[in-house]
Amino acid sequence: MEEKDRSALNATLGKALNRQLLYYLDICARCAICRDACHQYVETKDVRYLPAYRAELIRRVYKKKHNQIGRFFPALYEGREIDDQWLDELYDVTYACTGCRRCMLFCPFSIDTTQVLAVAKTLLNAAGKGPEMLVELSDASIAKGENIQVFKDIMMRVFKDIEKEVQDRVNDSSASIPVDKEGADVLYVALSGPHTILPAAIIFHQANQDWTLSMFEASNYGWFLGDVKRAKAIVERIVDEAKRLKVKEVVITECGHAYRVMKFFQQGWAGEEPPFKVSSMLELIVRYIEEGKIRVDAEHIKEPVTYHDPCQIGRNGGIFEEPRYILRQVAADFREMTPNREKNWCCGGGGGLVAEPDFDEFRIRTGRLKAEQVKKTEAKIVVTPCENCRLQFAGLNEKYDLGVKVSSVMDLVVDAMAV
Ligand code: SF4
Ligand code: SF4
Repeated sequence: MEEKDRSALNATLGKALNRQLLYYLDICARCAICRDACHQYVETKDVRYLPAYRAELIRRVYKKKHNQIGRFFPALYEGREIDDQWLDELYDVTYACTGCRRCMLFCPFSIDTTQVLAVAKTLLNAAGKGPEMLVELSDASIAKGENIQVFKDIMMRVFKDIEKEVQDRVNDSSASIPVDKEGADVLYVALSGPHTILPAAIIFHQANQDWTLSMFEASNYGWFLGDVKRAKAIVERIVDEAKRLKVKEVVITECGHAYRVMKFFQQGWAGEEPPFKVSSMLELIVRYIEEGKIRVDAEHIKEPVTYHDPCQIGRNGGIFEEPRYILRQVAADFREMTPNREKNWCCGGGGGLVAEPDFDEFRIRTGRLKAEQVKKTEAKIVVTPCENCRLQFAGLNEKYDLGVKVSSVMDLVVDAMAV
């Protein structure tokens, strides 16, 4: 590595050292309590995946280059320089992390390893070492936002096909999938493909909701990449659309990180409160059931059902009870897995891992704890409101012979509505 590149990366690290990060870097007592909280360490017993060790890689450079005592006595903190070997090791432990934040929950000082790794991602991206797949997916989303007219005709044809299916399912030829509807109450943001549009459109039809479908997908690969500029550009496409259509509420489909980005990060990046409410589709469904706008039958689904709390929706998004309320309304036999809610084990596929081929074998291997949790419930249906988790469960199902059906919450609601 050339000296000028090293200096540039050190300058980037220097800029990232805010009060919060300095606290995390200075306070760690190396007690290793976080060891048993991380599914990746528990499964691999590899010190590189110990949460504190991941942060230690950043800490060593910080101590040598940016800390007064460390500058003069680097050996005291195993201080080290940035070099190619350090970047390679940093890549592995940083992009392997699913961002589940279970380590923070158990750390006596509430050290948020993901915040330290966010800086690691900034450094890796600055060094041109971000995962190629995430870079490509992010740039494709941004390009779509900049050239939406080019994509519009194709998308409208896809939406028309889905609309036809909705009409057949609800037996009503007036059922529609509105797009670009100015003044609609709700802007619904789905994922790519029909699977999160179809059930939502059926539910909206039954609830008589005034809605419009976003032209943009909810996923934000810039956020997984840890590139704030790209992440901001991706979420702003939806914000601009919501402002242009003057909607009252933006409803994010069942997707952990997309909900968190729109609800918690967007406002900070934009520096202003958005002129609309942000909700998860789960919250909206609870409202519909409570207000009697949709009717569901708990006797319709008789097979035992269990629920996996996606880390970004549950532990990091605070939505624990809404999906449980819904599942108790639609399924006769709902069973909790243990532990659950904020202590739930990560499924192993979050943080964009399902989109990174480099980590395919690793994520299935480190999902074993989750597979064991599911087996103990003897459930036949695993419900989880996150696309990453559902994709991971498809792999776990096969590898660990779970024999379960994996479902979104919306799909079960539609089943139980008996439309
Ligand atoms: S639990 Fe917290 S203080 Fe202890 S080693 Fe882990 S990060 Fe450091
Ligand atoms: S956030 Fe999750 S995967 Fe990452 S280090 Fe902490 S416990 Fe492990």
